Amino acid sequence: MPRPIYAEIDLLALRRNLAVMREKAAGRAVWAVVKANAYGHGLENAVTAFAEADGLATIDLSDAMLARRCGWQKRLLLLEGFFDASDIEPLTSLKVETIIHSPWQIELLRQAQPEDVRCHIKVNSGMNRLGFLPVEVNTVYDQLTSIPGVRVMDVVTHFANAEPTYQADKPASVERQLSRMGRLAHGATAACMANSAATLFHPEVGGDAVRAGVALYGVSPDSHISSEELGIVPAMTLTAEIIAIQEIAAGEAVGYGSRWIAKRPSRIGVVACGYADGYPRSMPDGAPVWVEGQIAPLAGAVSMDMLEIDITDIPAAKLGSRVELWGRHLPVNRVAAACGTIGYELICALARRVPIRLREQG
Ligand SMILES: *Cc1c(COP(=O)(O)O)cnc(C)c1O
Repeated sequence: MPRPIYAEIDLLALRRNLAVMREKAAGRAVWAVVKANAYGHGLENAVTAFAEADGLATIDLSDAMLARRCGWQKRLLLLEGFFDASDIEPLTSLKVETIIHSPWQIELLRQAQPEDVRCHIKVNSGMNRLGFLPVEVNTVYDQLTSIPGVRVMDVVTHFANAEPTYQADKPASVERQLSRMGRLAHGATAACMANSAATLFHPEVGGDAVRAGVALYGVSPDSHISSEELGIVPAMTLTAEIIAIQEIAAGEAVGYGSRWIAKRPSRIGVVACGYADGYPRSMPDGAPVWVEGQIAPLAGAVSMDMLEIDITDIPAAKLGSRVELWGRHLPVNRVAAACGTIGYELICALARRVPIRLREQG
């Protein structure tokens, strides 16, 4: 029997979330962002579930190859562009479009004299990560279009604070970034600007395409707003089982470093999930774990292959009880918040050794 842990991926939820985001995109094309193994959900599953998307956007050329092998015939986009000259030929042969964010990429294109490469000019409107300044865009456009075989599709930018939780008066507020984009944001040029948060919370952003990631997986981009409020459904549920139970006396400790000490006689459930499965070792005592319809607190340091929960007050919890680490009953953002991170990080970090089970229930 395989170790009792698996991640259930709900294909119907993925499809429905895409439909929700398409509606929010209000006529703009939708790139489904599938980087990081489709945020941990499995690239092949995303290729199937996002058949209705206008294109898939990722970081790795190898993802684009896999998507093509899986039969994906629509558009593909590299969000960080290509990384060296050897990437340029595959862009043509696989029909993969690329972001251009730096002068060195333009130089490599000039040298490569490619047959057919479609480019998207990345604009730095305040994130200060990748891209050219708005005033440089005309020059970059001219440089790119002077290379035979190179086509410019649009301009793209990325928002630093599209989540409502972030204050509007940040140096890079959506408003400020849009104003820096100026006519690029709503002019003759095609523009792709919105991520999930901007698509959901900033209809004023506009453009003619969006890049939706986390919301397609049913996770709210803003930890303070629930998936239900947004009409999306978590597609990943990480499930394990209680494989042993310890009845311990007050004063006994649980796990490495004896971090959790029983204040009363306690029942401890040992769960077949550890940090080698992608459950953060930084999780503190008391972090929420779902079992038998209730929340049990994490008790003790997470081990590589196991973690322990206090089930003293949950008599229904028994050997073989299904334990949900995050997913349908327990929002991943809530679990992530317990250790000071965001749901994105947890779903992306799902370990390869965790088997994936597909479900179509929705
Ligand atoms: C990851 C990424 C996205 C998707 O962001 P979400 O918040 O997951 O919707 C969009 N654009 C770029 C450039 C990205 O890197």
